[in-house]
Amino acid sequence: MRLSRTLLPVTKESPADAQIISHKLMLRAGLIRQTAAGIYAWLPLGLRVLRNIERIVREEQDRAGAVELLMPTLQSADLWRESGRYDAYGPEMLRIKDRHDREMLYGPTNEEMITALFRDAARSYRDLPRTLYHIQWKFRDETRPRFGVMRGREFLMKDAYSFDMDEAGARHSYNRMFVAYLNTFARMGLRAIPMQADTGPIGGDLSHEFIVLAPTGESDVFYHSNWERPAELSSVDFDDVDGLQAIVGGYTADYAATDEKRDSAREAEAGEALRQSRGVEVGHIFYFGTKYSAAMGMKVQARDGGEVVPHMGSYGIGVSRLMGAIIEASHDDGGIIWPDAVAPYQVGLINMRADDAACAAASDDLYAKLGGAEGGRVLYDDRDERGGAKFATMDLIGLPWQIVVGPKGLAKGVVELKRRATGEKVELSIEDALQRVA
Ligand code: ATP
Ligand code: MG
Ligand code: MG
Ligand code: MG
Repeated sequence: MRLSRTLLPVTKESPADAQIISHKLMLRAGLIRQTAAGIYAWLPLGLRVLRNIERIVREEQDRAGAVELLMPTLQSADLWRESGRYDAYGPEMLRIKDRHDREMLYGPTNEEMITALFRDAARSYRDLPRTLYHIQWKFRDETRPRFGVMRGREFLMKDAYSFDMDEAGARHSYNRMFVAYLNTFARMGLRAIPMQADTGPIGGDLSHEFIVLAPTGESDVFYHSNWERPAELSSVDFDDVDGLQAIVGGYTADYAATDEKRDSAREAEAGEALRQSRGVEVGHIFYFGTKYSAAMGMKVQARDGGEVVPHMGSYGIGVSRLMGAIIEASHDDGGIIWPDAVAPYQVGLINMRADDAACAAASDDLYAKLGGAEGGRVLYDDRDERGGAKFATMDLIGLPWQIVVGPKGLAKGVVELKRRATGEKVELSIEDALQRVA
């Protein structure tokens, strides 16, 4: 993409209403614009990052055996009356009336809709287990939308729902998501700690919030220092029931809890290794048994001919919130530092002198070799601007690599290659530079 042809409204000053660094940087780097309180437009660069986050989430859901579908954002109130949540949900739910005065709502979550869909489609034990997910916009009329996309009112969520014949099956489905979540966040360069979370009236120990440590986070968290090691990917057979349980057991052996679930015995046990911090909830997994299936009359035929009410779980990831969390974890004074896996482009190509024919020709050639407009790997700053402004823009938007083409270097047959994360710069021939960023 040529910078002269895209929409990238970068700004030097931080907007006054942005309190945390990720919100400031998302506005300054031209990723988003607020269109109403807690509602954002995704500008071209921001949308590319959002799509990359979404792709990683989707790949890890698929790998864990979940199946994608897409449910609508608008739902009927009657559906929510079946579970009893229409009246219980409160003012966070955006309620709408259509022209025939029918009550509708903008979905804050999808337990009711997926239960109705599965109830009408599944007949017997052969249709289970299943885990279904979608990646869809949600609306919650938060009392205090703030911190940009971290707590928006309209936000993108991946939500998955599992259906099993019994509790043991549901635990396996839960474990699949547990490991899938750790891998998902690790691929984005994040250490997300699974913390025991409240299960409400259902009880039991099967709910975890995945929390990324950040001083600006809204949750108070307590954890064993063992969690400070970097995240690793688990390569696992998701069908291996015992193997998966062992992995989850290994992870939950180290203490980690939010404020509501502190355990003084385990904290005493951790002793000197106990840490306290703040964190951002990027995911939440939950087993809730037959809460919705029973209320909404879902039954399937068992192998022995009897009827079974399926056991369910739900599993959310804050796809749009993750963008803020990644920036909180990865930035410096110059701006954002995108992990390669989510970067909107891998390479920023800077032509220092748009008015110099040799520089323009060499830059155009590099642009084509990096894939040009179609490849989606390179953002080419071909504008007629000062070099200093171009450097500042590239640092701000945080692409992993920068290639700088200037008249002096070109006379020697070299360009400058910079790694955004370390600031390390080297002079290389054009061929070598191309190879390094390949
Ligand atoms: P929070 O405690 O931050 O209000 P929640 O517990 O209400 O979140 P869940 O119902 O568990 O949220 O939804 C699943 C995920 O959706 C959360 O873990 C979070 O990552 C994301 N999420 C929830 N609310 C918002 C929001 N207002 N803006 C952006 N992401 C959100
Ligand atoms: Mg909430
Ligand atoms: Mg929460
Ligand atoms: Mg939650």
